[in-house]
Amino acid sequence: MCGVAGVIQVPSTLAVCEIAAPLSSASLVAYQALLMLQHRGQDGVGMVSYDQECGRFFEKKKLGLIAQAFERDDFERLSGAMALAHTRYATVGGDGMRDLQPMLAGVPFGVTLAHNGNLANFFELADEIQSKYKIKFLTHNDAEVLLQLFCYFMSSTHQGKLTGNFSFEMAVSSMKQVVQHANGSYSVVGIVAEGGLFALRDPHGIRPLLLGRKVEDNRTTYLFASESSAIQFLGMEVIKNLAPGEFMLITPDGQIMSADVGGKEAAHCMFEWVYFAGAESVLEGQCVYSARLELGRRLAKQVTKRSTDSFDVVMPVPDTGRTAAGALAECLKIPYREGLLKNRYVQRSFILNGQSKRELAVGLKLIPIVSEIKGKRILLVDDSIVRGTTSKKIVNLLKMHGAKSVSLALTCPPIKHPCFYGIDFPVQGDLLMANLSESEAARWIGADEVFFTECSDIDGAMNGLKLCKGCLTGEYPTNLKKCRSFALQRGRVREAEEKRV
Ligand code: SF4
Repeated sequence: MCGVAGVIQVPSTLAVCEIAAPLSSASLVAYQALLMLQHRGQDGVGMVSYDQECGRFFEKKKLGLIAQAFERDDFERLSGAMALAHTRYATVGGDGMRDLQPMLAGVPFGVTLAHNGNLANFFELADEIQSKYKIKFLTHNDAEVLLQLFCYFMSSTHQGKLTGNFSFEMAVSSMKQVVQHANGSYSVVGIVAEGGLFALRDPHGIRPLLLGRKVEDNRTTYLFASESSAIQFLGMEVIKNLAPGEFMLITPDGQIMSADVGGKEAAHCMFEWVYFAGAESVLEGQCVYSARLELGRRLAKQVTKRSTDSFDVVMPVPDTGRTAAGALAECLKIPYREGLLKNRYVQRSFILNGQSKRELAVGLKLIPIVSEIKGKRILLVDDSIVRGTTSKKIVNLLKMHGAKSVSLALTCPPIKHPCFYGIDFPVQGDLLMANLSESEAARWIGADEVFFTECSDIDGAMNGLKLCKGCLTGEYPTNLKKCRSFALQRGRVREAEEKRV
């Protein structure tokens, strides 16, 4: 999972909007937008701008967090009216410099591209492209596969010969072919030198992508971003969520064009609302904060169905458990208490790529308030159990500081299947709830009981949005049967089962 932002500034023909301060250059706008998307990826950051005056791309990439990657001077160097920015969370490829996005290609026209998502058929597609089209990849990143496919199909327009200038029609026919080859989730932003800023959403709209706009005296700034919070933070208005399979181009003179390049039934990732997106964001018209409140209310119903025990306090695991915990406490009429404070200087543990990094982060990130814990029967609220490592450490921490009992309530139903679309739980053998019953899981974690919402609660909290729930049900929106990653994962499951026997 990653965060993307794409910016273009064009001469204005629209009425001036009165709100907020004037925006800065394209690269600075992209940087500010990206700051609001830091929670989507913390491995590294990249930015590419294109300056029409000198006809050049400018680039900066660095491992680590966004605020530490850029100096003031960088934005003078990253000149031009178009810029892309990307914050990376590695699922395919490593977490080194080479795999940081945006990716660049000189032929044809000069194209740069970044995406949020994951190609489930990355391995076989990369092999096919290398052998069939004789393209050599320089990274292990699926963004490069998308970029090279797009460039290849543009180059081979008109019987293998590139004739004439870049056009919207050429981009649309090339993107249609990209979409036919790519299997998975991809919310793409890109620049074609002289051609404009483009964006693409995969046929099911698995990952979010929105367009925002701000009109000023003599120019209009457009921003494609992974979340609405990035757009609103800059005082811009949200124009739309891109539709599944929608391709958009905004030209340097301000024309906006859109085409369907293969849209199918929507299957938005439910985990965006449960965990990943910022609570302040509104995706597909559904506010993330409201969805989490409703999940808390529905979780309260699940608790009252089963538990005859009573609890002294409802306590959230900060930060994503907080909203639901408040709603659940209200419903159950049990006092809400903060017994764990977050060390804000430690990264989100789930999104770190590697078990040892995750375990270290869990140990460092939560600080107990002993007076709120000691002697209490705690109903602890969190968003989900993936590997179970985080939950186990937190329950242990509370018991170490004198909790009388700890029951765990989760706003996400049991995650029993891997995700092939960009959330880093790809191996079924690693998923706690794929392998244990609820009572076994409670024992493994060290909790007295565990409570989950049900799939119907997810649908209810998201007001009937069409969602991907593949990791809950094993039914995925794309056909994964021929994907090597799917077969590999099944192999690992067998291996894990054999070990348990
Ligand atoms: S499988 Fe789960 S985490 Fe992955 S896209 Fe679907 S809902 Fe989201």
